Amino acid sequence: MANTQYPESYYAASANAVPPRPVLQDDVETDVCVIGAGYTGLSSALFLLENGFRVTVLEAAKVGFGASGRNGGQIVNSYSRDIDVIERTVGPKQAQLLGEMAFEGGRIIRERVARYNIQCDLKDGGVFAALSAKQMDHLESQKRLWERFGHTQLELMDQRRIREVVGCDQYVGGMLDMSGGHIHPLNLALGEAAAVESLGGTIYEQSPAVRIERGASPVVHTPQGKVRARFIIVAGNAYLGNLVPELAAKSMPCGTQVITTEPLGDELANALLPQDYCVEDCNYLLDYYRLTADKRLIFGGGVVYGARDPANIEAIIRPKMLKAFPQLKDVKIDYAWTGNFLLTLSRLPQVGRLGDNIYYSQGCSGHGVTYTHLAGKVLAEALRGQAERFDAFADLPHYPFPGGQLLRTPFAALGAWYYGLRDKYGL
Ligand SMILES: Cc1cc2nc3c(=O)[nH]c(=O)nc-3n(C[C@H](O)[C@H](O)[C@H](O)COP(=O)(O)OP(=O)(O)OC[C@H]3O[C@@H](n4cnc5c(N)ncnc54)[C@H](O)[C@@H]3O)c2cc1C
Repeated sequence: MANTQYPESYYAASANAVPPRPVLQDDVETDVCVIGAGYTGLSSALFLLENGFRVTVLEAAKVGFGASGRNGGQIVNSYSRDIDVIERTVGPKQAQLLGEMAFEGGRIIRERVARYNIQCDLKDGGVFAALSAKQMDHLESQKRLWERFGHTQLELMDQRRIREVVGCDQYVGGMLDMSGGHIHPLNLALGEAAAVESLGGTIYEQSPAVRIERGASPVVHTPQGKVRARFIIVAGNAYLGNLVPELAAKSMPCGTQVITTEPLGDELANALLPQDYCVEDCNYLLDYYRLTADKRLIFGGGVVYGARDPANIEAIIRPKMLKAFPQLKDVKIDYAWTGNFLLTLSRLPQVGRLGDNIYYSQGCSGHGVTYTHLAGKVLAEALRGQAERFDAFADLPHYPFPGGQLLRTPFAALGAWYYGLRDKYGL
């Protein structure tokens, strides 16, 4: 990994102070070696430590260096695929388990924040905003579906009601989920890392896993040390590279970009989002936004293949923001950055086991803030020998991207272009 410093994001600029962490320079023995200190790795580590395991976390860069420290901060429950589609794929029994778990990630985040006193600007309330009657119909049917699995907190909003919570004329209605919400994502990761250490876990930074020696007692090698463990959890997601070749074939890293305005002041911020809820629209290539604690607007949109430098990011995302909020035309953009998430063909998480002792979860393709927290719990359950919920995810089928590793990017870009057209013309 070339660059191991945080990007120049709003989050890095407003991160809580943390002590420096060591580089692994020894041979260490532990129960579980976790590769990657994003939410998947940290959530796994915390649940394992709470259940008496010894845990060592290896992070190639810094805690929250990947998507977990760069994302839109939206606590969006459920999966990137509708539960009826999942039901048709895996059958009613597995779908029941997955359906019941779909809103658990948000609860886990809140428990973590409360138990470990994590300062991460947590706010309740997330809105799914419909841009067309067809999208509104879809929200209505989704609400009915979720109620079947016991999730009854969702509120449909007509055009008048959504205008009370979002100062934008684009929407015909929406759905409010008070179990959604938002956080400062890097500060959540940093707080979880501190919680891991408070329970006796060790986190090494600037310590990439470069090789896994598989076997009954596997060993993870870093440039200057190694960790022998009973179990390994692979949690490198879109930043993992080819460390575990079996995983790379069925997933694809994608870049997505976020901009942050200068502070808007109370009056303007309240005019945009009076209740301080976060919002995502219902397009396939969706726009999402929210306020920060100091009343900036954080706005992300779409998937942009190849746009990397901040000026380029602002040029792409700012017009989307102005379409929603033309009143921001004179507002300055203070930060623009990019991050990678991991896409699977089904848009469902890729979860499983290699041999007896290497576990992985990656590729949730969206809604990752909540899913990754749930994943940590489900992985820890599996390591304790209770694999029913783990198996519900592990049974989800996954297929290689058409074109293999060489052609998967142009094929996926073509797919995104197609869905972009569908969004544009409301198809
Ligand atoms: C810009 C952006 C906006 C997003 N917005 C939202 C949102 O608003 N809501 C939402 O739900 N989801 C959002 N997501 C998705 C969400 O952030 C991710 O799904 C989630 O954070 C993934 O967490 P993770 O721990 O699996 O991976 P990551 O956070 O990417 O962590 C992986 C870690 O593993 C480390 N690593 C990789 N390889 C190795 C190795 N060999 N050795 C050691 N360490 C290694 C990396 O350095 C990294 O720190 C967004 C993603 C991006 C990029």
